[in-house]
Amino acid sequence: MQLPLCEVCHQPANQTCGGCKLVYYCSKSHQKLGWREGHKLKCCAFKVQYTDTFGRHMIATRDIKQGEMILKEKPAVIGPRTCCAPHCLSCGKKLQAMKMNDKYDFYKCSSCNWPMCGLDCEKAEIHAAECKIMTDRKI
Ligand SMILES: [Zn+2]
Ligand SMILES: [Zn+2]
Ligand SMILES: [Zn+2]
Ligand SMILES: [Zn+2]
Repeated sequence: MQLPLCEVCHQPANQTCGGCKLVYYCSKSHQKLGWREGHKLKCCAFKVQYTDTFGRHMIATRDIKQGEMILKEKPAVIGPRTCCAPHCLSCGKKLQAMKMNDKYDFYKCSSCNWPMCGLDCEKAEIHAAECKIMTDRKI
């Protein structure tokens, strides 16, 4: 059997990256070098593959511990579900009605009038763009 080749020097290698088990190295020092030269951005515990039965899917490249973080991405959209009890648009917490002028109601954003936690969440950066749209359109 032919030995796999080192990612760095392309000589026969017998060590794999412990993070992904996908790439090989001839030595610890080349593993460190490869990591610094960009493998740290590519190293992950899964790979994407294609089969006719399942289409495009991910498979683990090593054992993954329960609760281990394997992927971190910024969400494309953040917000409460369309059908749920009122949740704050900024922090996502479920809101508690407060007693105000003898009736129970939620704190409302002073600009768009949507229910939120309070002034801090109303002024939060994350709410600014939607607040302006909802205020302008009176949603
Ligand atoms: Zn090497
Ligand atoms: Zn790796
Ligand atoms: Zn909030
Ligand atoms: Zn608002």
